[in-house]
Parts: sequence; structure tokens; C-alpha cells
Amino acid sequence: MSVKRFEEVALSFFPQATLDFFNDGIQFGFNNYHVKEVNRIGYSVNLTPDILKEALEKQVGLILTHHNIWEDHFEMREACLKFLEEHNLIHFFNHLPLDASEFGPSYALAERLGLEVTDRISFYEGFYFGVVGNLQPQTLDELTKRLENVLGHKVRVWKNNDRMIKRVGIVSGSGKDLASLHEAKALGCDAYITGEKSLTTLLYARHIGLNFLLGSHTFTEIDGMRKYAHLIKAKMPDVEIIELKEEWIE
Ligand SMILES: [Zn+2]
Repeated sequence: MSVKRFEEVALSFFPQATLDFFNDGIQFGFNNYHVKEVNRIGYSVNLTPDILKEALEKQVGLILTHHNIWEDHFEMREACLKFLEEHNLIHFFNHLPLDASEFGPSYALAERLGLEVTDRISFYEGFYFGVVGNLQPQTLDELTKRLENVLGHKVRVWKNNDRMIKRVGIVSGSGKDLASLHEAKALGCDAYITGEKSLTTLLYARHIGLNFLLGSHTFTEIDGMRKYAHLIKAKMPDVEIIELKEEWIE
């Protein structure tokens, strides 16, 4: 499969207006783009030196990630770019278009948790990055265990009400902004799940009586990447797509 064909397929799931809006070279695109044939694609949430090494060992020709190489990571960014060039690897990333899609990280995590999505939250310039949905009434402990099973790691919980959990807000990745918690509360959520926090998030969650479950940025987003990778695979059956395993560090 040519890289050009991959690009067409990888962008085919998004409305043109979404791509036009986010077309700043930072939210989606390539690093080390060049013409070549690709038979194996590896995907992950982040591009790091460890992921690059794994990609090389597994003979991946193109790496598909959610985040771009972080712009503010000084020599780490340079090391990643140098590695791509030295090993003839192509990197394609899809950040906010994927976050805003109905197969993106928030929807995908909601599905894994058994939520029936009814509303969207975390509004930005006409796009929503989070969801609200209903689930079978359960205790906070039950929801916590379920989330730990899905993410594959321990989560931290701030209990801010005693109710059974029937309605949950999810913003996969970084959903620490107070506006998202405010919207979740207004839509009747008993609990809120995201991958990042700050002191102000926790103080506000306590004030509005919203249980706060903290997963990790990476593992609240990996299901969205899996879905995206499988959508691409369905359109290019001859290409092998494998997951590159990230370490839990958050
Ligand atoms: Zn993210």
C-alpha cells in the first residue's frame, strides 16, 4: 500500500469541514513523509523513543498515533524526528479530528464501560470532545473496578457524593477543565471520568458533588486509537495493523 493511499483512507472518516478547521499541521498530518510502500502499521497514543524502538523491532513501516510528537519536548522531539529519518519510518498522527469523532477516545471508552450516550460535553469551536451517558445503576466501587479492568491499571477516585451511579460524563485524555465538569453536572452526572487533573479540578468536583475518577491520559484514549486503526484496516485488508504497547507511567 502506498503512503498516499494510506493518507486517503486515514482521512476518509472525517468530514471535510473538520479537516479544514484543524488543518494547521499540528492536529493531524505526517512527520518524515516520503513515498514508499507500507505493509505493516503500528499504532499507539504517543510517539516516544520507546515506541519508536518497538516499531523498529516489529518491522513497522508507518506509525499511527493520536498525539503528534510533543512540540515543547526539546531534545525529546529532536530525537524522535532523527530516529524517524534514520530508520526510514513514517509517522502519521490524528489528534483533534479523532477526539471530535463518534469513534474517538471518549465514545470508545464509553462503549467499553457500557454507557448509552445521550449528550456531549467539552465544547470547543463547534466540536465536542466528551460524552455523557447512562449505565446500569452501580456503586462507585463497582464503576471503579470496571474502569480499572478496561484501562488495565489502577485509577484514583475522589468520592464527592453517596448516590448510586447512573449517569457518567467522560472526557478521555485531558478533561481537567472546569467547564467540562460544569456541563457534566448540569446534565445530571453522578460521576466524571478523565485522564488528567489539577488542584482546581478536584476542588471544583468536590464543591459540585461530582465523583471524580482519574484514569490516565494514554489509557483513556487507547480504545479510540484501536477503533480508528480497525476502521483503517477494514479498508485496507492487505495491510497488517498491530498495537505498539505503551507503558503505564501516569
Ligand atoms: Zn490526548
